[in-house]
Amino acid sequence: SVILGIESSCDETSASVCVDGAILSNVIANQTIHEAYGGVVPELASRVHQQNIVPAVQQALINAKVNKNDIDAVAFTRGPGLLGSLLVGVSFAKAFALAKNIPLIDINHMQAHVLAHFIGDNKPSFPFLCLTVSGGHTQIVLVKDYFDMEVIGQTLDDAAGEAMDKTSKILGLPYPGGPLIDKYARLGNADAYKFPEPQIPGLNFSFSGLKTSILYFIRDHVAADPEFIQKNLNDICASVEKRIATILLNKLAKAAKEYDIKDLALAGGVSANTGLRQGLLELCEKNNWRSFIPKMEYCTDNAAMIAIAGYYKFLKGEFTGQGVAPLARYPL
Ligand code: ATP
Ligand code: MG
Ligand code: FE
Repeated sequence: SVILGIESSCDETSASVCVDGAILSNVIANQTIHEAYGGVVPELASRVHQQNIVPAVQQALINAKVNKNDIDAVAFTRGPGLLGSLLVGVSFAKAFALAKNIPLIDINHMQAHVLAHFIGDNKPSFPFLCLTVSGGHTQIVLVKDYFDMEVIGQTLDDAAGEAMDKTSKILGLPYPGGPLIDKYARLGNADAYKFPEPQIPGLNFSFSGLKTSILYFIRDHVAADPEFIQKNLNDICASVEKRIATILLNKLAKAAKEYDIKDLALAGGVSANTGLRQGLLELCEKNNWRSFIPKMEYCTDNAAMIAIAGYYKFLKGEFTGQGVAPLARYPL
């Protein structure tokens, strides 16, 4: 089967071609326009998707050396995400499927982040746990089958990626700050500053208290020394990153013990984080668990994960009709 995957839920326009379960291309057009605003501006995001969607698909076909007449089905992100952004991908997918008279496959973006683990040879076995950490979500997912997933823990307020991005904003860094925190953290001492670990019962998370404590910490130090951030940027980033990673991994370890599961995976944009990736490796080594970490290009938003999810739905013959509409909120 030849599946075309389309992703447009936030600020990445992406297209991918999957042939018999192998990803042959994954074109991602990033939107830089949002940097000037310190966050994604939905109205601008949908306009840029509109400009980029056709070139992204054309490039994905060229890279995969696939002719558009050979595509068997179109898989697209139905949600969750920004409605105006989703509409571009959904409308494109519908028009393409209608023109070629091929089936449409709707995909849940958060399921796709998890299913990114089925790209390539190193696949986890069911049931496994996936820590999905991104700009909008922080979830521990019990993955029982390709499309049978249960959220067993989640954030009660901010997402982990939001905590990264808000910290970087406090430090005066541009958006998105997660990759910059990662970059500076590599040069700093992670034990330089201690930020509190929230005491949240069960497998849930909270990051809003951490954000506030970072805000006050910076405010107080800058009051005493206006150059505090510049002088200590690497140490601050390393310490914040370590705290976020330990909050996440402590809960994941707790879940693994409670559910007696030995395959642990990371997914979502924050799984690109070096400290978190390293932390999971060490945790799994210590406990004799297996760790699964996606390649960088499959961590942040991409259409390859949509195409691979589409492939598994195609095998089951699960299609959707032309009346399908995007969903801004779309639980697993
Ligand atoms: P969602 O998937 O919840 O709808 P999203 O699609 O915006 O949200 P992703 O693209 O999966 O999210 O992830 C983006 C987030 O990942 C941002 O918050 C960004 O700062 C963070 N991020 C990306 N790379 C890194 C990194 N190396 N270290 C830390 N955070 C990172
Ligand atoms: Mg993004
Ligand atoms: Fe995402």
